[in-house]
Amino acid sequence: MQSLIVMKFGGASVKDANAVKNVASILKQHPQRPLIFVVSAMGKTTNNLVELAELSRAYKKQEALAQYQKIKDFHFSIIDELFQKDTKHTVYQEVEAYFTEIQEVIQGITLLREFPFHLHDRIVSFGELISATIVTAYLNKIGLKTEFYDARKIIKTTSLAGGSEVLWEHTQKKVKETFLPFPEHICCVTGYIASNLENQTTTLGREGSDYTAAILSNILEASEMRIWKDVDGVLNADPRRYTNTYVYPQLTYQQAVEMSYYGASVIHPRTIKPLENKHIPLRVKCFLNTELEGTVIQAPKHITQPPKHHAIIDKFNQILLTITPKDFSFVMEKHVDEIVSAITHAKLKVSLSQNTALSYIICADNNHEQIADFINELSEKFDIQKQDKVYLKTYLFLTERLADEEFFKAILIQRNGSTAQMVIPE
Ligand code: ASP
Ligand code: MG
Repeated sequence: MQSLIVMKFGGASVKDANAVKNVASILKQHPQRPLIFVVSAMGKTTNNLVELAELSRAYKKQEALAQYQKIKDFHFSIIDELFQKDTKHTVYQEVEAYFTEIQEVIQGITLLREFPFHLHDRIVSFGELISATIVTAYLNKIGLKTEFYDARKIIKTTSLAGGSEVLWEHTQKKVKETFLPFPEHICCVTGYIASNLENQTTTLGREGSDYTAAILSNILEASEMRIWKDVDGVLNADPRRYTNTYVYPQLTYQQAVEMSYYGASVIHPRTIKPLENKHIPLRVKCFLNTELEGTVIQAPKHITQPPKHHAIIDKFNQILLTITPKDFSFVMEKHVDEIVSAITHAKLKVSLSQNTALSYIICADNNHEQIADFINELSEKFDIQKQDKVYLKTYLFLTERLADEEFFKAILIQRNGSTAQMVIPE
């Protein structure tokens, strides 16, 4: 089989006309085929569309229309710049048609005063549809033969608010039908979006375009997946919070999974598994400086140098819950059992737990609804103390003793091998 590279360009890499031109120049430097790339919505478009969906759900027609106009103006200003206001170019009609569709959806909602849940995903899906349409048109304009692929026709999922589950068998079949034998042209695929078996639009969850690329890489057995980002690679810490950050030249799949699990935002957490299953290396490269090697994430047997520096990852918007049996008994298996079931029922996202003689402590994402459900289920038998405005600081790949000033501010500390975590008031 020919060796396939699947690339992914995120929202920041197509945030304006110059950024799109930069994507084109990166693709120009890559004459090898087959080439499939996945693209996200432009800049902050998905956030703006989520807001539009919320306004529509609240039947705020005027505000919704203003938000719609803002999104439309943003895209047409990029198109004007890329196509020099050549309004006869088909891209104008294609994008206009998407905006007409958005307008119809919103008008339908505000008129019928009904917001079926799948319409949320329908509204947000236009970000990727429009972005991929513009990028495809521009690449063709500069002579790179490219075709647009709507991932809703290729990736099949269940329907879940906030991110659906992939139906692998259906998806495998569609992906192979679509891309095999590999075409000569570049394939531009919409990230993030998919559809259910009734052909309603779904999504893979926020920041899900990485996952789209990983699904395609897995099924088509890519030789590499390459994510283009505005950072130099996978960094050991967030450069907005820490100085002297370091780019890992190599990481294992497991190390990358740990980093994203504890809150590093480099890679969508679900991305790694499909790659790991087929031993496909994932390269993270910087679209602002393509000379840099970036980071390659792969199986341990290919790793020639272990992480030289530990990673520090801060996860914000956490809550610490101290759960104490009301009868003043020790925390026993049956208590833990009840607490764990309540965690499952409330779908709490727990990042750390610990038990002491008289209580069980967890640190979780501070999602108000989930926390309320959780407390509700346990309140008969347990007292629950809440402490919010805390964050979780995780150290990974530690080889040295930990000397951190924040140690003294921490209200909970845990260490396990090369991983240390602390919960710290914000
Ligand atoms: N545009 C989507 C989002 O912002 C998906 C992605 O960017 O990966 O969540
Ligand atoms: Mg995005």
